[in-house]
Amino acid sequence: MTRSCRFALVALVATWLILLSTPARAALISEKQEIAIGKQTAAEVEREYRVDTDLTRNERLKRVAAPLLRVAERKLDWQLRILDIPQVNALAVPGGFIYTTRGLMEKMPDRELAFVLAHELQHVERRHSIRQLESSLYRQLGVLAAIQLLSKGRVSQGTSNTIALANMVVSNRYTQDMEREADSEGIRMMARAGLDPHGAVEALRTLQSNNKSSMPKFLNSLVGTHPLTKDRIRHAEELAGSLAFTAAPVPDVQAPVTDSVREAQVMLALESGPSPLSPDPDLMRLALDLQTPPLSESRLEGNQGLVVWTFPENLTESQVNHGLMNQEIPRVLGSRTFQRYGVSIVQLPESQRRVVLVVR
Ligand SMILES: [Zn+2]
Repeated sequence: MTRSCRFALVALVATWLILLSTPARAALISEKQEIAIGKQTAAEVEREYRVDTDLTRNERLKRVAAPLLRVAERKLDWQLRILDIPQVNALAVPGGFIYTTRGLMEKMPDRELAFVLAHELQHVERRHSIRQLESSLYRQLGVLAAIQLLSKGRVSQGTSNTIALANMVVSNRYTQDMEREADSEGIRMMARAGLDPHGAVEALRTLQSNNKSSMPKFLNSLVGTHPLTKDRIRHAEELAGSLAFTAAPVPDVQAPVTDSVREAQVMLALESGPSPLSPDPDLMRLALDLQTPPLSESRLEGNQGLVVWTFPENLTESQVNHGLMNQEIPRVLGSRTFQRYGVSIVQLPESQRRVVLVVR
C-alpha cells in the first residue's frame, strides 16, 4: 500500500466516523438545496392535482395559518395551498409548501384546521423529509458519494438531480417518531400562537373517523397508511391539557380582504395557469379589484396569465393605449419579457384607471 493510498484510506475511515458519530448526522442538504428540491416536489404535486383557487377558502386558510406562521422558527417563504380534491388530507413539502385539501377544509372547523397546519408546518420546521432524504442517500450511495452528488451535482429546480431527489421525497414515509414529534411540536406551536391546543384532539378524532380517504400517490401525507392510533390521541389530550395558552384576539371575520391577500390570490390563480385567451371571469373580477402595483417581472417569467396595471387618472383612453404599448408595458414587464411573451389588453374598465393585461 503506497503512502498516498494509505492516507486516502485513513481519510475515508475518518469521514465515516465523523459522519456516523454526529448525533443527527451532518446536515448534508443545505437550506438552498432544500428549497430547490421542495419547489420541484411542489411542481410534481401540482401536476397531479389542481390547486383550488376559491377565494373564500384561500382567505380562510390564510387567516387560520397567520398566527402559526408568526411563531414559526424557520424564516421560509411559506406557501399554503389547497388541492382541489374531496379527500381529507394534508401534506408538507420541504422548503415551506403546505397543502391541505378541499375535503379537509370542508370537514374541519378552524380550530381543527389550525392543528393540521401546525402539524404540517412542524414537519418542515424539523426538516423531516430532508432528514429522511439524507438517510436514504447515505444508505443507497454511501457517505462519500452522497456528499459528492450534493456538492458537485447541480441541485436547482428542474435539473435531473433535483427531480430524482424530489421523487425520493415523494416516495419516503415519515416514521412514527416523526409523526409524534409533529403532533407534539404542532400542539406547542398552537399554544405559542394563542390558539387552543385542544383543537388538536378534535382534529385527530376527525381524521380517525375519516381514515378511509387517502392520497395513496403522495405519501408522507397526514393520514398515510397507518391508522391513527389511540395513543396519538391520548398523547395529544395530555399535552394539550398541560399547556398554558392565552387566546389571541379573534380577527373580525368581516374585515375587508387586504390588497396583499388579493395579490396572493392572483398569483395563485396565475400559477395554476388560466388560459390566456379565455380568462376566468372570477379571476378578471379579482384582478380588477386589485389596487396594488403590477406583478413584477421576475415572478412572471415563464408564466402566462393576467397582469393588472394601475395608471394615473388624468390620461385619456388613447393616451393609455399608446403609453401602455410603447412605454409602460415594456417598462413594467421588462422589454425582453414583453417581446418574448407578447401582451394584449383585454379590458379597460370604466374607471379607466386599471387595465388587465394578458401575458402569453
Ligand atoms: Zn404528519
